[in-house]
Amino acid sequence: MENLLLWGLYVATFYAFLPGLISRTFGFRVFKKGLVEKEIALTFDDGPDPVYTAQLLDLLARYNAKATFFIVGSHAEGQEHLLRRMKDEGHNLGVHNYVHKSNWLMRPRTVKRQIERTLDIIEHATGSRSAYYRPPWGIVNVFDYAKFGHLQIILWSAMFGDWRTRLGSERLKKRMMKKLKPGEVLLLHDCGMTFGADKDAPRNMLIALEAYLEEGAKQGYRFIAIDEMIKLTEAAKSMHRSIWKKVLVSLWLTWEKLFHFLFRLKTVGNEAEAAFHYRVITYNGEDIAFAEGGNVVKGDRVAELHFDNKMLSSIAATSRSPVATGIRMLREVEQALPLLANQLAADSDAKDIKAVYGVTMIHRGADRLGFEIFQLPEGLFAKSTRVYLRILIKVLTNTKKTVKSNKKKDTVSPRMLFMPVTTVRRYATEQLNRMQDITEAVERSLSAAADEAAQLGTKTTAI
Ligand SMILES: [Zn+2]
Repeated sequence: MENLLLWGLYVATFYAFLPGLISRTFGFRVFKKGLVEKEIALTFDDGPDPVYTAQLLDLLARYNAKATFFIVGSHAEGQEHLLRRMKDEGHNLGVHNYVHKSNWLMRPRTVKRQIERTLDIIEHATGSRSAYYRPPWGIVNVFDYAKFGHLQIILWSAMFGDWRTRLGSERLKKRMMKKLKPGEVLLLHDCGMTFGADKDAPRNMLIALEAYLEEGAKQGYRFIAIDEMIKLTEAAKSMHRSIWKKVLVSLWLTWEKLFHFLFRLKTVGNEAEAAFHYRVITYNGEDIAFAEGGNVVKGDRVAELHFDNKMLSSIAATSRSPVATGIRMLREVEQALPLLANQLAADSDAKDIKAVYGVTMIHRGADRLGFEIFQLPEGLFAKSTRVYLRILIKVLTNTKKTVKSNKKKDTVSPRMLFMPVTTVRRYATEQLNRMQDITEAVERSLSAAADEAAQLGTKTTAI
């Protein structure tokens, strides 16, 4: 016997309480509170009631308040005019089972039938099917998630015990006033004919609600139906996300400025529309041998290139995809190369350089510009660069999951680009005519690259 009890308790826990706890704690597929400025959602359960629901609708109309009614199907039979009135006056309708019984006490099939039956009643009365469901006592069971995917489960952020008469309208009012706050989803009852409730309890509810609406109107609150509350909340959430993104971008641009200052980066061309910055450093990496002859070894002087990240972020913000960002960035580089060549030729600090180099993920098409592409030697630098560039892609682009498979991971891995100084010099002004030919070749290779899943990237040495 004892065993059986334990076993029963275990099943009950799994079937009813655990999902309820999960949905309450994590808000999983359940809406219970809004993220809004000055709105409150009133919800009324267990009706319609032949006496109180009509009075409630009158009261709501007087305050131009919209609400959401969770209908008990069996109470709605014969009261279809009330459902129609709710719909006509701008309220939302949801399902609260056909009879007011906990889902815990019913088999999943029975719950489904109850919901379908109530959905039909609502549709028959109002012409539209409801999208919302509130299980009696808020008890959701595991099958609710599996079977009613098309219905949004609506719980509440505040309830007051208004189903008992002995609470009294004064105490109810006091409790409600504490929840005169943005985003609250109030649970009230416009019908007292369910098990455990008092038949005339809604009378007190109406008195307290009138005071609540009065005070709310005075303070500038709007009382809205649950569909609008959900919509506003979604919009607020996505705005919060984009604000967070803006903060990250501006932090990062600040960091860039600091970096430019600390390492005395020189800007190529006009500051306002610069594509690159550079600094002349002593090369400290592994030996590099160029295909066209010559090499760079430890101790050689090189010009280290940095993309202008402000420009990169504005390009990324206006590009449809990372691929498009990559292509536009390469075009900028292409246009800036003659400027860079001239500036390096005039820079006494750079007269002994053997190459220009940078680390970037935009390496597709770069070979046509005269860059030679090398793997980053494995090590802390390569690893941290990859992490940095991935974070950058997340911050800059609108795509949610940029990196999915290993294959894609490979395309976002950074490379070292080197251009021997002899090639750089060919970009100087007197060679501009020849540039036209290179440009055309690059255009062709870029459109080919666009078809592949090239990824956005930028250069970093600042790690
Ligand atoms: Zn109920």
